[in-house]
Amino acid sequence: IVLPTSLFGAGRRNSAGVDLSDPLVREPLLERLKALESRNWVAKPGIGKGEGRAIKSPHDQRVTVGTTFEATVDEVDRMVRVAHAAQVGWDALGGEKRAQLLERAADLYEAHAEEFFSLCTREAGKTLIDGVLEVREAVDFLRFYASEARRQFTKPLPLPGPTGELNELRLHGRGVIAAISPWNFPLAIFTGLVSAPLAAGNAVIAKPAGQTPLIAALAIELMHQAGIPKDVVQLAPGSGSVVGGTLTAHPLVAGVVFTGSTETARRINRTLAERDGPIIPFVAETGGQNAMIVDSSALPEQVTRDVISSAFQSAGQRCSALRVLFVQEDVSDGMIKMIAGAMDALKVGDPSDLATDVGPVIDEPAKKVLDEHIEWLDKNAKKIRRLEPPKEAANGYFVPPAFYEIRSLSELNSENFGAVLHVIRYAGDELDKVVEAINTTGYGLTLGLQSRIDTVRDYVEEHARVGNFYVNRNQIGAVVESQPFGGEGLSGTGPKAGGPHYVARFATERVTCIDT
Ligand code: NAP
Repeated sequence: IVLPTSLFGAGRRNSAGVDLSDPLVREPLLERLKALESRNWVAKPGIGKGEGRAIKSPHDQRVTVGTTFEATVDEVDRMVRVAHAAQVGWDALGGEKRAQLLERAADLYEAHAEEFFSLCTREAGKTLIDGVLEVREAVDFLRFYASEARRQFTKPLPLPGPTGELNELRLHGRGVIAAISPWNFPLAIFTGLVSAPLAAGNAVIAKPAGQTPLIAALAIELMHQAGIPKDVVQLAPGSGSVVGGTLTAHPLVAGVVFTGSTETARRINRTLAERDGPIIPFVAETGGQNAMIVDSSALPEQVTRDVISSAFQSAGQRCSALRVLFVQEDVSDGMIKMIAGAMDALKVGDPSDLATDVGPVIDEPAKKVLDEHIEWLDKNAKKIRRLEPPKEAANGYFVPPAFYEIRSLSELNSENFGAVLHVIRYAGDELDKVVEAINTTGYGLTLGLQSRIDTVRDYVEEHARVGNFYVNRNQIGAVVESQPFGGEGLSGTGPKAGGPHYVARFATERVTCIDT
């Protein structure tokens, strides 16, 4: 893949990718990644030592990638206090200086991209292509939020007023923000959640997912190397209940930015509701029950390609991934057959092997939940295709792509976070019922439509309550600034990550009125 190096926004450059189709690029890269396999990685809290825990590869539990030292309640408390003291100076630095430091961090991420590729594969079970995309998105977040710091935090906004009066609005950081991230984009989402509050003049305590602290530790180390003060951005590895719970309950935390499951977002909301002290913002991006609607005017080859990537890329472990395919019944037999045929070409296995399309799921609990769902489908739905686990499955956590026909969306009561695709047939005059069923789930993250009929597109666009609507393409891989990302309802609070309103959500607005 070759990724664009185009000009965005105010001179912002999108990160360049790696051309894996060129053997002169690919072969030396694979050699260097092999050499990185002997590296022993460490993640430590910003302060103190905590307790050590080995991190193993999801595709092979015999492989130890490194060790994480988890922060204790007291350490988290000290980190917040140190960050609170440092935040004032960081805010006073102003938007331009903060932008320069974030851009320097982006350059360092690119210089260390291969270490991130290695960690994405070995710690998070990602294929090399997914690792390349991950680094690119992280770098784009850093540069875009830097440009937002420059746009919104360098000069006050003049406001209208009567003669003899000067009115101005200024944005300032709020204080210490807790950034709590998931394992499925251990670098890109982690970096986005940390860098946006930093851009706005906040100090940040970054709590990575329990499964992926090593990638997060390298990211924070590079931010420090870039010149962002160690007290301003600190890593707090550890469990959701101890580190996450302590952070969200801490009276000096001035905001929480979170990406993860809807259930955890609700838990954090309850903690925030019970806190003493100020009322603080909570930005949550959560789960989805994402659908694609395919009508009889759609192009079958295009639908097949887009369904395969939307449902099975990254082993289906994307919040945007396709879970439920609605196909108009006139064309459904042919379409289902083509998709099942294309599934047979997918290679499931070791993510470090370039031929692999679908790697492992993240851990044993994730596999167990998916296996139980497939067991339920075996009893209650019609099996269309289920791929076989790879040879190395015994040492890792694999749930190969599965495809089942169900009767109605109401049969699925929660998000199934893996490569399990469900299909439902609908009659040509039932488009309104399909959209209504999608809205009734309460989730509202991504929706795909494959149709050549403008009135169908207009109807769906107007009636579907979703954050990101994709027409005649796959529904994954939102590009920073071009496709700001996030859902509504059970899928999140907004504002959208990578969009024009995001950074300001972490700021407080102050208005000065001077009688001149
Ligand atoms: P998760 O289990 O909800 O965990 C997310 C983060 O919250 C982790 O760092 C976790 O720590 C922490 N956490 C758990 N309990 C907590 C508590 N009581 N207080 C504070 N923090 C707590 O989600 P996940 O399994 O990592 O990620 C998958 C989910 O994320 C899926 O539902 C997916 O749809 C969603 N997601 C949404 C988006 C989006 O943009 N809408 C993007 C990506 C993923 P531990 O890891 O230590 O438990």
